[in-house]
Amino acid sequence: MTGGDSLRLGVLGGTFDPPHYGHLALAETARVQLGLARVLFVPAGHPPHKPGYPLSPAIHRAAMVRAAIADNPAFVLSRVDLDRPGPHYTVDMLTMLNRMFRGADFYFLMGSDSLAEFLTWRDPVGIIRQVTLAVMERPGWTADLDALEREIPGIRERMVWLDAPLLDLSATDLRRRVREGLPIRYLVPPAVESYIREHRLYLPSSEIA
Ligand code: ATP
Repeated sequence: MTGGDSLRLGVLGGTFDPPHYGHLALAETARVQLGLARVLFVPAGHPPHKPGYPLSPAIHRAAMVRAAIADNPAFVLSRVDLDRPGPHYTVDMLTMLNRMFRGADFYFLMGSDSLAEFLTWRDPVGIIRQVTLAVMERPGWTADLDALEREIPGIRERMVWLDAPLLDLSATDLRRRVREGLPIRYLVPPAVESYIREHRLYLPSSEIA
């Protein structure tokens, strides 16, 4: 909270399968740059934009987020999206959070890959009415800001860019690395790596006991 202003909250939605240092750098950069009191990590129930993807069970994804954020008192796990029936559209999740934290000033954190696909999301106008987008550049993803502004006039004013280094990390690549026996140390927090090993996540099904 900054003097006299309303409570500033960050929201980082994602599948977190698994959470990695890209997510944590996004959240911490936003926390410091925007003076956020808290960043809510919101694992998605079942995201409509990843329909064919065999998502790990929510219990694992939530536990890994909890492990990843444990050492940062400003980071909080929110089960708001996991504990509601689908379809799990971001716009509805944000409406719920706005009701839960009335008067708060919300920032929705995302990588530039999400911004590049933002027009395909359900009710993007409804989203930017409720939150400011806080965007971190992601390698290989440049959003067409002119096209976005043409489709949603005024979106630029509802967007801030985060000053963070480019981190070429993705959960997809981490799952592949585990599957292929490659290291993930230094790419995810140690507690997340331990959880993945202990629960034998992301192994080819033949190797799961
Ligand atoms: P997957 O590879 O399974 O699609 P992901 O690594 O993109 O997963 P998500 O949980 O889908 O992770 O991402 C949640 C949010 O975090 C998205 O807005 C995404 O753009 C952002 N994000 C993830 N990784 C990075 C990164 N390396 N740099 C910046 N933003 C990131």
